Amino acid sequence: MRRSAQEALIERLRSNGAIRTDGVLSAMADVDRRDFLPDGAGDPYRDAPVVLQLATDGRPLSTASQPTMVALMLEQLAPRPRDRILEIGTASGYNAALLAHLVGEGGTVHTLEIEPELAGRATDRLRHLQHVHVICGDGRAGHPDGAPFDRIIVTAGAPRVLQPWSDQLVEGGRLVVPVTGPDGHGVCITFEKLDGELCERSRTPCGFVPLRTAPD
Ligand code: SAH
Repeated sequence: MRRSAQEALIERLRSNGAIRTDGVLSAMADVDRRDFLPDGAGDPYRDAPVVLQLATDGRPLSTASQPTMVALMLEQLAPRPRDRILEIGTASGYNAALLAHLVGEGGTVHTLEIEPELAGRATDRLRHLQHVHVICGDGRAGHPDGAPFDRIIVTAGAPRVLQPWSDQLVEGGRLVVPVTGPDGHGVCITFEKLDGELCERSRTPCGFVPLRTAPD
């Protein structure tokens, strides 16, 4: 029952073109989104975002992104076995677990979350994955202690590409970042670093909670 709902979601992500490779397919089949969502937060197998934290004025501050968007961004990022990955915006930890699956135990995933409570819960949920490191901190500065990274994925809306992300990326590395307005709407852009410059490879419309400057 539980399994078939997850299979139906994966079938949907294949038919809408979000899942394109066997790697992303196997990560999404092996990592169960239900394990990362609080009880009663929403149907884990619906292709919809799930809100994890709201501001006092009702704005979402943290979500588990829509599975279609998660898959699209993983395909754009194209993580390889043994890669060093930086994720900005851990939230539930679901995407970090998918990344961990894609890089395997020879790789590492550093994931930054600005909100201590979310970072604490994700640390607990990801404890069994020794190559994942959850760090409570401001991802706008990247993570100099873990740099350089082969892949950087930002999962909160950024006003623009920030210099530390480019600086902390290896030559030939990829950066996926939603560049959005204050309302969170914008475009998710994939860059490749060539000769020290970020070259745009693709873009797709998106909506994300904006990056924040401090926990609430
Ligand atoms: N990776 C998740 C997260 C999306 S929500 C997913 O794809 O499902 C974005 C998360 O980024 C929120 O949990 C929010 O608290 C966090 N965040 C916002 N600003 C941040 C910052 N400056 N540094 C690190 N995390 C940040």
